[in-house]
Amino acid sequence: MLLDISAVLKSSMEKLKFENEIDVNDVDFSEFDANFPESVKVSGNVKNVVGVVELSAHVDCTYATTCSRCGENITKNLSFDFEQTYVKEQTAEAEDALTLEGKTIDLKDIVCKNIVLELPLKQLCKEDCKGICQQCGTNLNHKQCDCKTEYFNPQFEILKGLFD
Ligand SMILES: [Zn+2]
Ligand SMILES: [Zn+2]
Repeated sequence: MLLDISAVLKSSMEKLKFENEIDVNDVDFSEFDANFPESVKVSGNVKNVVGVVELSAHVDCTYATTCSRCGENITKNLSFDFEQTYVKEQTAEAEDALTLEGKTIDLKDIVCKNIVLELPLKQLCKEDCKGICQQCGTNLNHKQCDCKTEYFNPQFEILKGLFD
């Protein structure tokens, strides 16, 4: 998915708006336990600020993953903004900038890099997911098992210490 920015490169008055749907099915996100069955929506603009090309984008996507506590398959939404600058020649001042190659920006590549940065390290089906019983394997979100587990409450332990 290459974005043609030749008009922007010619004139610093030019601002290019874009709106795309990018298919990232072929990108391997398995390391992050995520895959994207639906295309990723990207919109934004590219402008030329005295020779520095600035890309601002908004990303909206849905991905499939598994809850890291109970192992259920879940679908999550991810929505974020990012900015990226591009320069023709790399200089020390512009160390966060990428070097332009030709008159295009590889939108898919930069979007995927930013998705990786935005993906949470831990996926949870819900904030208070109860997880799996360590003894019988029951998904405790669905039903309570009969296993006796010692629930360790740190605050309670502190109180107990006070009265001993
Ligand atoms: Zn869960
Ligand atoms: Zn159990």
